[in-house]
Amino acid sequence: MGTNKLSIKNSNSILLIASCGMNCTLCYAYQRTKNHCPGCRIEDEQKAFSCVNCRIKNCMNFKDTSKRFCYECESFPCNLLRHLDKRYRTKYNMSMIENLEYIKKDGLKKFIVNENNRWACKICGENICVHKNGCINCSN
Ligand SMILES: [Zn+2]
Repeated sequence: MGTNKLSIKNSNSILLIASCGMNCTLCYAYQRTKNHCPGCRIEDEQKAFSCVNCRIKNCMNFKDTSKRFCYECESFPCNLLRHLDKRYRTKYNMSMIENLEYIKKDGLKKFIVNENNRWACKICGENICVHKNGCINCSN
C-alpha cells in the first residue's frame, strides 16, 4: 500500500487547487507516476498539451491581476467554465462551480479539509481519482 510514499492529499496548498476550482490531487495526470503533472499552478514543460493550453488557465482575465479563482471574475461563471463544469458534473460527479462557491463562502482551508474527507478512499484513505472513479493507490 505504498507506506513510504508521500500522501497525495492536499496539505492546505493553493498550488493544488486550479483557478477553475479543480482539485488537482484528484486528477489522473497528478496521481499517475509516469508523466506526473505537478498541478495546474505549477509550471512544468512536461505537462500534457491540453493542460498547458487550457483556455481557463490562460484566460486573459487572470493576467496582471491579483485574481486567483474564477469566482473573483466579473464574468463568473463564464461559458468556458460552465462547459467544463457540465462535463465534470456529468462524467465525474463533481462541480467546479460548486467548488468555487464553497471556496468563496468558507475559504480555501476549509474547502481542502472537506475535499480530503469527501474523496478519501474507504480502504486506504488516500484521495481517489475522479477520472478513474476509483483509487489508484490501492486499486479499489
Ligand atoms: Zn485506496
